[in-house]
Amino acid sequence: MRFDRRVTTEPQGFAAPAAPDGANAQRELTVFLDRDGVLVRDRPDYVKNWSEVEIVPGSLEALGRLRSAGARVLVATNQSAVGRGIVRREAVDDMHARLADMALRHGARIDGFLVCPHTPDDGCACRKPKPGLLLQAQADRGVDLSTAFMVGDQVSDALAAEAAGCTAILLADRPPATTTPWRVVPSLADAVDLILDASRSPS
Ligand SMILES: [Mg+2]
Ligand SMILES: [Zn+2]
Repeated sequence: MRFDRRVTTEPQGFAAPAAPDGANAQRELTVFLDRDGVLVRDRPDYVKNWSEVEIVPGSLEALGRLRSAGARVLVATNQSAVGRGIVRREAVDDMHARLADMALRHGARIDGFLVCPHTPDDGCACRKPKPGLLLQAQADRGVDLSTAFMVGDQVSDALAAEAAGCTAILLADRPPATTTPWRVVPSLADAVDLILDASRSPS
């Protein structure tokens, strides 16, 4: 579990833009994003290299709105394909460097990538639904987990968020058959709407 610090050409420091609407806008806002199924189209045989990266339509635009709001965006992703020997860690890092570049070119920004390379059998503390990746962001970057959001397309993402004390938003095309304690929306754009609404309203 580590941050890849090479992925952005911009300073790592988090600089919020001028507050558009008073004190609330100065509140720290961190959004954790799952990668596959949220930013990049998921594949049953794993996303193994850049040629297999297909950006989910609208996701970079949604991230651009988070950037405009001064939010810090951290991708938190399980990549058991590394531990299974299917994908080299270097290939994962390469994909992330290119994703970060692509985000910048689209007016968005990804501030870091948190990767769990382990398999379920490894029993690590970072594979979602465990909260280790998010806790690492708290330790390394001072992320306030209590005000942070996590957007993912799996229940394991929401459980990791919950275990870390973050607000979970689950992406699903249809509402789940059973009620969940999490907000469920169809797209990252909808999730960003929720996040920006929530971070604007006084608490
Ligand atoms: Mg996913
Ligand atoms: Zn792990």
